[in-house]
Amino acid sequence: MDALALRERMVGRLKAAGTIRSPAVERALRAVPRHAFIPNVPMEEAYADGVVFVKAHAGLTISSASQPTMIALMLEQLEVAPGSRILEIGTGSGYNAALLAHLTGPNGFVTTVELEADLAGAAQHALALFGTANVRVVTGDGSGGYPGDGPYDREIVTACALDIAPAWWEQLRDGGRLVVPLALDQVQRSIAFERDGSLLRSASVIDCAFVALRGSAAQTPHAAGDRAMAIASGTMHVTAMRRNAIDPAVLARAEIVLERAATIFAIGSRRA
Ligand code: SAH
Repeated sequence: MDALALRERMVGRLKAAGTIRSPAVERALRAVPRHAFIPNVPMEEAYADGVVFVKAHAGLTISSASQPTMIALMLEQLEVAPGSRILEIGTGSGYNAALLAHLTGPNGFVTTVELEADLAGAAQHALALFGTANVRVVTGDGSGGYPGDGPYDREIVTACALDIAPAWWEQLRDGGRLVVPLALDQVQRSIAFERDGSLLRSASVIDCAFVALRGSAAQTPHAAGDRAMAIASGTMHVTAMRRNAIDPAVLARAEIVLERAATIFAIGSRRA
């Protein structure tokens, strides 16, 4: 099968599974040649619904192209509108950045930050080959966001974070949306937050599995487990501290409201 046919098959399966829900996400996944961003694997593997390894360090995978299912779910969570200014943390292969660029279109802009200089370079090259003009690839620690292109309408983190870096919060426009995989004790969840003044309110929560975010955000004091997170829903209010496990079943139906107090998560409150 050629690339186009493999891509059509991939999109068809994601649609049939209900993973792709919007025409915009469908169009983006149809348009961007995934194989061009992961040139070291066979074409069939590039379009299989799997994670594609990109880079390891000291025996640990530090970069991979996410599974198409995961990518589609997170893009649906992000709800990009044409013309959005978008910040991505964790460029990796550049594939997701190309999808974001397609979603926001020529009137929007994508800034994507990658810690590994070689990956940023390769992604930049692949994006240029594909002809994506509205993306800036930045080499650096995404813990600080990228103030130069902000404030952003949308922010997406594609590595698992232990906390929400203050910079992501500050660079997100009021009413904007942040999608971030968070390690919540034993489980990982991709959470879409909407900024509502000084609050971040969760709009959706899904299962995920990501490589760990590195850099300074990974070394916050609460990374050691010394943090409190409050989870609120209509019927219950759960606070998890330190190593107390959060029941994933509770999490799935909880609304999470975060209020920033210095760099520490606190306070959940019920939506009125
Ligand atoms: N969006 C990517 C998948 C990225 S995997 C894609 O479409 O292929 C996660 C990436 O985050 C890795 O490349 C890793 O090097 C990068 N990363 C980890 N910590 C980071 C940090 N603090 N700042 C920027 N990038 C980081």
